[in-house]
Amino acid sequence: MSSVVTRIAPSPTGFMHIGTARTALFNWLYARATGGQFLLRIEDTDRARYAPEAVDAILQGMSWLGLDHDGDVVSQFERVPRHREVALTLLETGMAYKCFATQDDIAAFREAARAAGTSTLYRSPWRDTDPATHPDAPFVIRIKAPQDGQAVIEDAVQGRVTWANETLDDMILLRSDGTPTYMLAVVVDDHDMGVTHVIRGDDHLSNAPRQALIYRAMGWPLPVHAHIPLILGPDGKKLSKRHGATGVEEYKKMGYPAAGMRNYMARLGWSHGDDEFFTDAQAREWFDLDGITKSAARFDFKKLEHLSGQHIAVASDADLLDEIAAFLDAAGADPLTDQQKNGLGRALYCLKDRAKIFPELLEKAHFVLSSRPFEPDEKSAKALNSVSIGILKDLTPQLQNASWTRSDLEELLTTFAESKELSFGKLAQPLRAALAGRAISPSVYDMMLVIGQAETLDRLTDVTGAPQ
Ligand code: GLU
Repeated sequence: MSSVVTRIAPSPTGFMHIGTARTALFNWLYARATGGQFLLRIEDTDRARYAPEAVDAILQGMSWLGLDHDGDVVSQFERVPRHREVALTLLETGMAYKCFATQDDIAAFREAARAAGTSTLYRSPWRDTDPATHPDAPFVIRIKAPQDGQAVIEDAVQGRVTWANETLDDMILLRSDGTPTYMLAVVVDDHDMGVTHVIRGDDHLSNAPRQALIYRAMGWPLPVHAHIPLILGPDGKKLSKRHGATGVEEYKKMGYPAAGMRNYMARLGWSHGDDEFFTDAQAREWFDLDGITKSAARFDFKKLEHLSGQHIAVASDADLLDEIAAFLDAAGADPLTDQQKNGLGRALYCLKDRAKIFPELLEKAHFVLSSRPFEPDEKSAKALNSVSIGILKDLTPQLQNASWTRSDLEELLTTFAESKELSFGKLAQPLRAALAGRAISPSVYDMMLVIGQAETLDRLTDVTGAPQ
C-alpha cells in the first residue's frame, strides 16, 4: 500500500473549469498509479459567494469524468475552528504575532515607502513588540517570516525555485474577524488530510514558499509540490470562452465521451513517449510526475475530437448506451425509448467507428431511431425521383426472395446494379434515402442487416408505393 495522498481543492465558482478538471485528473492518475489515495476538498470559505449548486457542478463534473475520490468530501468551511486553533498555536510558540495595524496604518506605511523609494511590502511594527504592551483592540495574526536568506521549493515539475525572503511579507493567517486566510486554511487542511503530493496549477507556485513557512513553523513535513503548466488556447493566450467551451459540463453537453476527455486532458501537459491514444488502464499504469512538461499546453480541439472518436470506437456497447443516455439528459433531449435503445444497441457495431462525438453518432443512427414512414431530408428527397423510385421498385421483388446475409445481399445488389447498367452509387443513393431518409448513414448492407428483411421491404414500399 502506497502512502501517496493527493487531492483536488476546487473553489466552488459555479462551474468546473477545464483546468481544474485537468488538475483533478493528474491527481487522480497519480494516486491510482501509485496505489495511493485521491481526496476531494471543497474550498468553500468564501461564504458571500457560496452556493450549493456551485458545489454540485464540481461533484457532477468529477462524476462524469469518472474521477472517483476516496473518503468523504471535505468542506474547508467546516474546518475553520481547526484553522483558528493552528493560528493560536503559532501565536503561542512565537512563530506568529498579533498585528494591530489598521487599514489606514498600512496605507500610510505604503505611501511613506513610495515617497522614500523603498519597498512597499508591509513591515508591521508589531512584529517584535512585548504582548504586555498590546492594546485591547482588533488584531490580525501574522506569521513571522524570515527577512533574509532564500526560500526554496524543490518542485517536481518546475525544479528548484527560489525566492529572496525579503520579497515575502509577514502574511496574515487569521483576520480580525477570526476567519482564516486561504494560505492558512490550505496548509492546515493539506496537513490534516495527510496530503503528501500537492499537484496544482502553476498559478499557485508563488504561494508555495509562503505556505512552506506555515509547515515549517508547525514542524510539519512539507509535501512534494508539483506545479503543472497552465492550459492555453490554440493561439497561445490563456484559455477563455473566446476559444470555445471552458466548462467541463459543456463538453458533456456537446457529446464528448468521458474516456476521450480523460485521454485528451492527460495529454495537456503530460506525455508518455509519443503515445497519443491510450486507455484509462494504460494512463494509470504510466502516469508519473516526470512526464509532466514545464511549458504551457495548448488546447487543440481537433485532437480532442480525434481522440474522442477513437474512444467511441473501442468502447463497449453497454458503456456507450449508458453514456449516450447521460449525454441526452445533459443536453436536455428526450431519453431514448426502449425500442430506440434496442435498435441503437443492434446498430452500434456499424456506428461507433464513424463518429467523433455522440450527436454525430445519433445522426447516423437515424435509421434505427426513427420509425416509418421516414421523412426524408433534403438530399434524400432529391435522391428519390421517378427514375430512382422505378429502380427501387424493380429491386423490391428480388429482396423479397433474398437470403439475408451480408455476402448474399452484396452479391444481389452488385448483380442487380450491373443488370441495370448502374454504378453501385446510383443504386445505393436512393436505397439509402429509402432506408434512412438521410444522406449520411452506415452502409446500405449494415442498415439492411440491422433492421431486417421485413422492415427493409416495408421502407421500400413506403417509397415505391404498394406492390402490384
Ligand atoms: N482553491 C484553489 C483553486 O481553486 C486551489 C488551492 C490549491 O490547490 O492549493 O485554485
